[in-house]
Amino acid sequence: MNYSDLCKVYEDLEKNPSRLKKTEILSQLLKKIKHEKNKEIIYLIEGKVFPDYCEKEFGISEQLCIKALVKSSGISKEKIVSEWRKIGDLGKVAEEITSKKKQNTLFSHKLTTEKILKNLKRLPELQGKGTVDKKLSLISELLTSASPIEAKYIIRTLLNDLRIGTGPGTIRDSIIATCLKKDKETTDAVQSAYDKANDFVLVFERACKGLKSIKSINLTPGHPLKAMLALKAENIQDGFKRVGKPAVFEYKYDGFRMMINKDEKEDIKIFTRRLDNVTSQFPDVVQYVKQHIKAKSFIIDSEAVGFDKKTRRYTSFQAISQRIKRKHNIQELVKKLPIEINAFDILYYNGKSLADESFEKRTKLLRKIIENKRFHLKTAHQLITSNEKQAKEFYKQALKDNQEGVMIKNLKSIYQPGARVGHMLKLKPAENELDLVITGGEYGKGKRAGYLASFTLSCKDDKTNEYLEIGKASGLKEKKQEGLSFIELTKKIKPLITKEIGRKVNIKPKIVVTIRYQNIQRSPTYKSGFALRFPRIIQLRPDRSLKDSATLKEIKEDYKRHELKIRY
Ligand code: AMP
Repeated sequence: MNYSDLCKVYEDLEKNPSRLKKTEILSQLLKKIKHEKNKEIIYLIEGKVFPDYCEKEFGISEQLCIKALVKSSGISKEKIVSEWRKIGDLGKVAEEITSKKKQNTLFSHKLTTEKILKNLKRLPELQGKGTVDKKLSLISELLTSASPIEAKYIIRTLLNDLRIGTGPGTIRDSIIATCLKKDKETTDAVQSAYDKANDFVLVFERACKGLKSIKSINLTPGHPLKAMLALKAENIQDGFKRVGKPAVFEYKYDGFRMMINKDEKEDIKIFTRRLDNVTSQFPDVVQYVKQHIKAKSFIIDSEAVGFDKKTRRYTSFQAISQRIKRKHNIQELVKKLPIEINAFDILYYNGKSLADESFEKRTKLLRKIIENKRFHLKTAHQLITSNEKQAKEFYKQALKDNQEGVMIKNLKSIYQPGARVGHMLKLKPAENELDLVITGGEYGKGKRAGYLASFTLSCKDDKTNEYLEIGKASGLKEKKQEGLSFIELTKKIKPLITKEIGRKVNIKPKIVVTIRYQNIQRSPTYKSGFALRFPRIIQLRPDRSLKDSATLKEIKEDYKRHELKIRY
């Protein structure tokens, strides 16, 4: 297919906000490729060139895109950067400069979707010396032949930011509209097939063959799978009300999620919640899995949690977060930051999917095949009860053991990959609030272009009166009705900007805001020595002066309180 035809579809999708209309536009495209052998255009619609389960990434930065644009257009870097600052979308900049290009007539070499897929698929494969140049020439080759609108979508695809407002739900509905009957059973079956396969091309191929073929899609150990997510419970009573009695209570470990896979060839792979393959970062876990899990193949859901070797107390997520990213000297980090695996679910066992079985059956099997070994690998601490008092004691104990709280699960429920479900709840202590001062910020992109989108928060050092950074908050909305908007806050802040460095700005300390955050951790990243976990700006405090902002002393006390769990 000509890439320009696909770009017209992109434009249509971008222009039409209605999901119904988007589904109609997409299914017209799918009808055209229904009988083609290669259906990978769906990946391009997702803004990718590989299935969702595939971890390969383009590894293209905005800077590299700018270089490619300089190379293909002959326009200076300064001009491109200045346009980008104004517009905030490098795709649009590409469109603009391509339309101004003198050699407009040279688009004779028509780009096809096959060519786009071919060049983009090669990007993650490139490694070693000269990689940047090779990447640059693959991109420039496409940009040189591209029309303005094609250039826009090439750049946006490279930056994983297609902006056509087409999520997995719309793609699923378009597949149904193209080949199947639209009813609840079909929608559920296609959704479940996608959740298991994480590959829309496979789902579309099967959908073309009919519902039976869709239903036969199974989990595959070794392919990353989206984890099932939890909703919040208000308290123990609420938990029982929502999942029924008896309920399963488990420690909510404060670490990171690990989906551990072993396939029929005994190959072990570990994926994070973001579907990143982190196997090579965790040789210790691979070893524990070999030693303590008895099964030919499986997919096990778990939480990796750090502990202090000397005190044998669990540590926070922050303490072990380095382990996910570390690519070198891995053994050194294995020793320095040991982790314990707490397995809490099993979705596949010896060639069979268990996702549609009850949690009761899955958790029993898990406990049968795992030989618990503390500080290596074990099953999550669990209590099955109908008794509120017992459940409360268990919750208190979880907090005393330095964990975040408890998970409350329904015994009869199935495992729904990728879904946030009401049959698995999380219960943790209420969030905390602080008043802090805004001392910095960063300009945003897209609809936030020209506005500050991220705000640096600081507390005051009571001894030196200096403002010390303690976190960054983003995620403010555009509309005023939904609380403080980034537009409103930018307006207030602009006259206070003292320095601009690229997109970053320094701000004169004047504005006090109320922040809600989950907890405080020690951190070398910020000057205060602490970092707020998940800070959100709740409101402006025009009624408060700088004197009222939180001090480092208070932060230290808050941190200690959290550590000692005095609140409970
Ligand atoms: P949250 O990240 O606050 O939405 O809480 C859900 C997360 O808790 C899951 O994604 C897991 O990473 C983590 N978790 C810790 N312990 C458990 C457990 N026993 N069962 C399920 N999830 C758990």
